[in-house]
Amino acid sequence: MEETLPVSQLGATVIREVAAPVSDIPSSAMKHLVAAMIATCEQAGGVGIAAPQVGESKRLFIMASEPNARYPDAPKMAPTPVFNPRILSMSESEESAWEGCLSLPGVRGWVPRATSIEVSYYDAEGVFVERLFEGFLARLFQHEYDHLNGVVFIDRVRSTRDIIMEAEYQRLLQVE
Ligand code: ZN
Repeated sequence: MEETLPVSQLGATVIREVAAPVSDIPSSAMKHLVAAMIATCEQAGGVGIAAPQVGESKRLFIMASEPNARYPDAPKMAPTPVFNPRILSMSESEESAWEGCLSLPGVRGWVPRATSIEVSYYDAEGVFVERLFEGFLARLFQHEYDHLNGVVFIDRVRSTRDIIMEAEYQRLLQVE
């Protein structure tokens, strides 16, 4: 098992900083960071993690969507490193869903997001990629992208009444 890293919690300065672009892709430093972020995300039951969440103020995140106890409806994808991402366009249509975050454990928010986005980024080999994401993956990308700009999901809720605790969220899941 790869080493895991401590997850920075809301309140840590790094969570609110604008992260810097990554210039060394590929490199052994970035390969190690990516492997440690994937291991950290897996261990914590996350579906994504951004470099600032492990104390690295860099424009890098991992998308690692798969169904788990925290996100039973997440689609399965291989862990995907995303370097220096850009959002090229966002759909006007939005939908809201419950989000959580490894940096805000125990908290859920009802967050509106664009339903589809066109993005570009560099993969772990430094290859430029353009992709369209929809639904849950569009939401995940927007959530992780926000982390690179010091933004967290509770900044995106329409009302503080759209913030609830994990135990109540689990109760909601059982009612559905
Ligand atoms: Zn997060």
